[in-house]
Parts: sequence; structure tokens; C-alpha cells
Amino acid sequence: MPLTAQNHPLAPLDAADADMLSRVQQLVQDTIGPKANAVNRDDAFAWETFRTLADNGIIATAFPRELGGSEASMLLRVRIIEEIARVCSTAASIVTGTDLSSRPIVAGGSPELCARTVPALARGETQSAFALTEPGAGSDLARLGTTATRDAGGYRLTGVKKFITRATVADMFVVVASLADGPGGSRGLTAFLVPRDAEGLSVSPIIPKLGWHGVPIAEVRLDGVRVPASHRLGEEGQGMALAQDTLVRARVGHAAIALGRMTGALQLAAQYAGHRQVSGKAVGEHQGIQWMLADMAARIEAARCLVYSAAQRYDRKDAETSIHASIAKMHSTDLCMRVVVDCAQLLGGNGYLNAYPIERFLRDAKMNQIGEGTSEVHKNLIGRYVMKTASAMAQHPCLDFEPDLFGAR
Ligand SMILES: Cc1cc2nc3c(=O)[nH]c(=O)nc-3n(C[C@H](O)[C@H](O)[C@H](O)COP(=O)(O)OP(=O)(O)OC[C@H]3O[C@@H](n4cnc5c(N)ncnc54)[C@H](O)[C@@H]3O)c2cc1C
Repeated sequence: MPLTAQNHPLAPLDAADADMLSRVQQLVQDTIGPKANAVNRDDAFAWETFRTLADNGIIATAFPRELGGSEASMLLRVRIIEEIARVCSTAASIVTGTDLSSRPIVAGGSPELCARTVPALARGETQSAFALTEPGAGSDLARLGTTATRDAGGYRLTGVKKFITRATVADMFVVVASLADGPGGSRGLTAFLVPRDAEGLSVSPIIPKLGWHGVPIAEVRLDGVRVPASHRLGEEGQGMALAQDTLVRARVGHAAIALGRMTGALQLAAQYAGHRQVSGKAVGEHQGIQWMLADMAARIEAARCLVYSAAQRYDRKDAETSIHASIAKMHSTDLCMRVVVDCAQLLGGNGYLNAYPIERFLRDAKMNQIGEGTSEVHKNLIGRYVMKTASAMAQHPCLDFEPDLFGAR
């Protein structure tokens, strides 16, 4: 059923997970939903929303039990994110952003560093930010210019990071830098955990943006910041390998946010169409409108299957998880953009007013097509994957001539 994922065959949850999800659904209905429009009014960090998520154990689902979390399966995370995103992208992005900014610490921090930092992150007492993008390097990470230079048992980091979510409130930063004399591969990209109060680290004021209000972004400058070797995350040159798991999780998270938002938009539009009268009947009784609703519903349900299947692959540690995360992200986020535009149209002039959440959904939807790899970047990855897979397969059985007759000569 496109408007709800209840009893979805691709999302079987055990009793404990189902219980957690129904608590989240209640929270969405009672607290997060009613406050979502207010959260959107300015771009200061949404502390109250963050506290709600932390106090209800939702932040903790991103962290392992041995470090104070309640590590949820990716499938449960996706279901939680989808439910929250039906009403509030800000809250949902705080949940996915916790993956982005904290998993590299869990994956690459020494046991001592993890024990010192992760439990407080899991309780929501502290926050981290993920600093990869730079003014000159977003999609093209080969252009990263932030450097790490070895220095007396540690490193010195110099560079500028742009678009860093939660930079204005983070207590620590996961910074990816290029090791000046690093061991080949990925140009020696290496990740570090840098405390906010490190000398030489500064954060710009909030950079104004179109949507995703409540999760502000800012620029982070590193001016010869000294980082002890104990704060390196993973091995030298392994920064991108370390970030890979984080990015896959965050991509599935973006896909789930888009899925939740378009499901919420469709619910709103259908409810509006059921009430609003035009030409003697409800808007939703006109066939043209029903066809619009039907198209959206079918496509949303297809997106839901892609998102759940990517999450299940992640949980099974399937070798193809990454490409399926790209497929789910590209499809769900691009579709969401189209769905919210159509839903705004369906509300007529009211779709354009701040009083209705559709204009917020519209502004928030754009971000999911940009963050964690733009749609174009994912298309490149998927296209290359299709070509590679096809070339490794046996010739299509309907062809009874030699491959060189494809035109190679
Ligand atoms: C609200 C917000 C929050 C963010 N939060 C964070 C964060 O917390 N941490 C962080 O590190 N980064 C963050 N980012 C940065 C984000 O990940 C980048 O903006 C994104 O990766 C795109 O990089 P770019 O902006 O440099 O665009 P560019 O890479 O310059 O791309 C410009 C255009 O070219 C297209 N393009 C690029 N390469 C190709 C290609 N090979 N083929 C075809 N088209 C291509 C892109 O799709 C895009 O349309 C955030 C961004 C925003 C807007």
C-alpha cells in the first residue's frame, strides 16, 4: 500500500523492532509532526528536535551496543527515517547525519578513542560533523586540497572544508585530508578526528540556504591544526575506504528520507483532493487528478522496494550493496523531486503557501539530489556498472552471430 509500509513483505521486523517503530510512529504523530513547520522557520540548529530524537533512543540506533548504542539493522533505520521524513526532513536528516558524521569514528577509531568519544555521541550529549567537501572539490574527490603533514608523532592539517552540516554545533569533526607523503592509492586520503577546540580550527557563521532548515551548514578552516596520531581514523591512505561504508549508509538514508517525504506529500495531496471542491465535486474525483495520484503511488511503491532491498543487502553484507544504494538513492531522490512538485500543483495556490508543508517539502527535496553523491554521480556509477556487468555476461541468447558483428569491424 503506497501510503503506508505496514506489513511490507520486504521489511519484515521482529517484535522488538516493530515495537521501536511503533514508538517512532507515535512520536511522529504527537511531537515531531506538529512541530515540523516551526522548526523550518529559521536555520538555527533544531536543538529541541535533536533532544527528542536522543531522549527516545533514536540517535543511539546508529551506534554499537558495546559503545553505548542500540545498533539497529539498516532495515529498521530505514523504516524509522522514512516515518520521520513523512513530516520533517530536519529530524530525519539528523538521524542520517549521525551515520555520516559518527560511523567513521566507530569504524576507524582506536578502542581507546572510541571508548572516550562514542558513548556520549550515542546518548546525544555531544555531536560530530563530517568534513569532506571543499570549495574546489565535491563530486571530484581527486581534487581535495586539505593536507595532512606528519609532525612529531602526529599530523598538521591545513585546508578549508565547505558545506559542513552541524559545523556550528559539533564538538568534533571527522576530517578527510590528503597525506602529503602518503602511500599511493586514493592519493593517501586519510581521516582524522579533530576536536572543536583544537588550536587553528575555526568555523564560519551559518551559511544561508534554501531548505533543510534546522540543520545549518558552515565552512570549517584548518590552519596548521595539530592532531595526535591517536586521533587518526583507520590507517594512513585508508580515508576513502573508511568513508565508503559511511557513504553507503548515508546514501540509503537519503533515499529513505526522499521516500518518506514523497509518501507524506502524497498523503497530504490526496487528503486535500478529497476535501477541496471544484466544478461540483472534490478535486480527487476528477479522473485527471486520480491518474496523477495513481502514477505517483505506483512509482513511490517501486522506490520503496528499492530502498528496502538496498537496506537488506547492507544488513546481509552483500557485495553489491554499494551499487544498489546508488540505484535506490538516484531513483528515490529524483522521484521525490517530481512528486513534491506535482503535489504542490495539486494543492493549487495553497501549495505555494508557508502554512502548508508542501512548499517546505519542495525546498527540502532538492538537497537529497545533491548530498552524498549527486544524481549525476550515481548515474555515472550505475552506467559503468551496467556496462561492466553486460560485458562479463554470456552473449544474449537471441543472437546467433559472433560478437564482432555488433560492429566492431
Ligand atoms: C545542505 C548541504 C549539506 C551538506 N553537508 C555536507 C557535509 O556535512 N559534509 C560534507 O563533506 N559535504 C556536505 N555537503 C556537500 C555535498 O556533498 C556536495 O555539495 C556534493 O557532493 C556535490 O559537490 P559540489 O557541490 O562540489 O558540486 P560539483 O561536484 O561541483 O558538481 C556540480 C555539478 O556537476 C555535476 N557533475 C559532477 N561530476 C560529474 C560527472 N562526472 N558527470 C556528470 N555530471 C557531473 C554534479 O552532479 C553537479 O550537478 C553538503 C551540501 C549541501 C548542499
